[in-house]
Amino acid sequence: MGKNVRILAQLQGIDLKIDSSRGETQALQSEIHSLEAQAEEKQLEIAQQKAELSAVEEEKKILEENLATEADSIVRSEVRLREIKTQKEYQAVSKEIAAAKKVKSDLEDQVLQKITRSDELNAIIAEKEAYLQEFEVNSSARKSELRERINQLETDISEVSAVRDKTAKGVSPSMMKRYETLREKRQGVAIAEAKGGSCLGCNMNLPPQLFNSLFKEDTYITCPHCQRLLYMRNDVGDVSE
Ligand SMILES: [Zn+2]
Repeated sequence: MGKNVRILAQLQGIDLKIDSSRGETQALQSEIHSLEAQAEEKQLEIAQQKAELSAVEEEKKILEENLATEADSIVRSEVRLREIKTQKEYQAVSKEIAAAKKVKSDLEDQVLQKITRSDELNAIIAEKEAYLQEFEVNSSARKSELRERINQLETDISEVSAVRDKTAKGVSPSMMKRYETLREKRQGVAIAEAKGGSCLGCNMNLPPQLFNSLFKEDTYITCPHCQRLLYMRNDVGDVSE
């Protein structure tokens, strides 16, 4: 088995560690984004309910103005009624007053509905604001934890990357290229252990002659099934220099 392959097996161990740390970092970052998105969603809901509340308040104000106008007009009509001389006119104004009282009563009902809705919205907003406040306290604590862990992972990655660069210097550029290409195609695993006549990368049996040739010092053996470069574990441990 070629020296390059033994070093690549070590390099792959390092690269898989880096991959795993990067994967964890991404997962933690998406948890932070999710917490932020949840808070934004709740803020948006509150903003929408506040907008509805101010619309309701505005409608209520207009209804109350109409109500006041209607009440004034009833008072004026009642004053007029006392000065009326003819029966016919009396009946006409009475009818007018009755109609105006009906309008006033409808307006009162509508104002009442607005007050009810306004109370409901105020209660919902208060509840949501309290929930959001609690959510943000918890979420901010969780985000600090996550950021701390991300910083730790980034430190680890940069330390391990330094070791990786040093190890990579021992591999020829053409082998390195082959390794990188294989890693892309094979979910990060370019170098597979050959054990008991099988490739552990794809779990397929290796032809016996091929397996035996792994014991030769300066040959590269590729798995005929998954194309990964093969190594034997015994050879890897003692190549740390
Ligand atoms: Zn294989």
